[in-house]
Amino acid sequence: MQRSAIADTICRTIELGVTITDAALDGEDRTHLFCEVLAPKSSCPRCERAGRLRDHVDREVADLPIVGHPTRLHLRVPRYACENGACGQGIFRADISAIVAPRAAVTRRTIAWILRRMILDKMSVSAVAASVGLGWNTVNALALQAARTVASAPGRLDGVRVLGVDEHKWKHVRGNGDSSFVTVLVDLTPIVDGTGSARLLDMVGGRSKAALKDWLDARDDSFRDRIRVVTMDGFTGYRTATAEALDKARAVMDPFHVVHLAAEKLTVCRQRVQHDTCGHRGRTGDPLYGIRRPLLTRIALLTDKQKARLRSGLEAHEEHVAVSVTYAIYQELINAYGQENKRDGKIAMYKLLKRIHTGVPSGLAELAQLGRSLWARRAEILAYFDTGASNGPVEAINGRLEHLRGIALGFRNLNHYILRSLIHSGGLAQHLDAL
Ligand SMILES: [Zn+2]
Repeated sequence: MQRSAIADTICRTIELGVTITDAALDGEDRTHLFCEVLAPKSSCPRCERAGRLRDHVDREVADLPIVGHPTRLHLRVPRYACENGACGQGIFRADISAIVAPRAAVTRRTIAWILRRMILDKMSVSAVAASVGLGWNTVNALALQAARTVASAPGRLDGVRVLGVDEHKWKHVRGNGDSSFVTVLVDLTPIVDGTGSARLLDMVGGRSKAALKDWLDARDDSFRDRIRVVTMDGFTGYRTATAEALDKARAVMDPFHVVHLAAEKLTVCRQRVQHDTCGHRGRTGDPLYGIRRPLLTRIALLTDKQKARLRSGLEAHEEHVAVSVTYAIYQELINAYGQENKRDGKIAMYKLLKRIHTGVPSGLAELAQLGRSLWARRAEILAYFDTGASNGPVEAINGRLEHLRGIALGFRNLNHYILRSLIHSGGLAQHLDAL
C-alpha cells in the first residue's frame, strides 16, 4: 500500500474523496492535513462544460478528531475558468459540497459526529467542542441545526395514533405572557399499546389554539388521518384546534388535570372556610391548616393516624361542612379514575358530573364552579374511559425538560431550548441516518 493510501485509510479521508499530501502539528494541539481533491468536478455550474484549470485555493475546515486531537483539513480546491463565451460564469471552484456545505467551517461528517456524541454518548457541548477544537457557540449552533434536520426526518412521525398535547412554562418571567410558554407534543401511542415509552415529537412557542393548529396543519394528511386521540389539559384552545384540524380524533381531557382542577377548588374552599372561622390565613394550630396535605391525598394512601386527624379536623367546626362535602366529591372523582373496569369508572364519573353540575346548595361556591367547568368538558373527561390515554407521560417528559432547563444555560432563546429538548428527549437516535 502506498503511504498516502495508508494515511487516507487511517484518517478516513478516503471516504471524503480526498487524499492526504502532507501533514503538520501546530502549537495548539491540532493536526493539520493537507489534501488534494480526487476527481474534482470541473464542469461549469452554469453551462456544464468543462472549465480550464486556473489555480487552487486552500479551504480550511474542521474534521473528525484523530487519535484524540482536533483536526483541520486543508482542502486544495481547484479553480477553473469557463471558456464558453456565451456562458458568462467566469471563474468557478470545483464543487466540494458533498464534503462541506457552502460557507461552512466544518465537514458534514463532523456535524453528524457532533450530534451523535451528544445524543448517543450524552456528551456536553463543551466536551464535544474541545474534541473538535471549535468554540462552544459554534458547536452548539451546529448541533441544533443538525437536530432540527433529524427531527424532521421522514418517518419520524410515522405511527402516531395517540397525541399528547401539553403546555409548560419554559421561561420564568413575570406575568403570564404567551411567549413564556411552549406547547409540547408527545407521542403516547407506545404507552397505550404497551410497547414503550412516550416520545417528544416537537415543541412550539406559545400556548394558543394557533400554536397547535399551525403545527397540525404543517404535517401531512397521512399523519393527521392517523391520529385517533388527542389528550390535553383544560385549555380550550387545544380542543378547538383539534376539532378544526383533525376529523377523526377524539379529544380527551387528561385525568391528571381533572383531578388537579378539583384539588385547586378544594384548596380554595379550605382557605375560605379557614378565614371565615379563624379570621386569618392558615397557621400552625388551625384545624384546617393542619390537615391541608392529607386532604389532597388519596384516602387509600393515608395511615390510620392521618385518617383520624383528617376526620377530627373536618369535624372540629360546624362550618367545616363545606370542606367536608367538597372533599368527598374530590375523593369520588379520584375513585372514578381508580375503577378497575373502565366502564364502571365512566358511569361513576358521569353520575358524579351530573350531580354537581347544577343545583349545588349555597355555601359551596367552589364546588358549584367545579361542577360547571367539568360539565362543560364532560365529553373529553368521559372519553378518557373509552381510550385509556393519559398525559401522565407528558408530565414525565415535562419533568425531564424542567430538569434540563435547570442545568447551566438558562436558555434565553426558545429555539435553542426546543432543539436541546429534542436532543434530550426526542428519540432522535433512530433517525441519525438522516444526516
Ligand atoms: Zn460556463
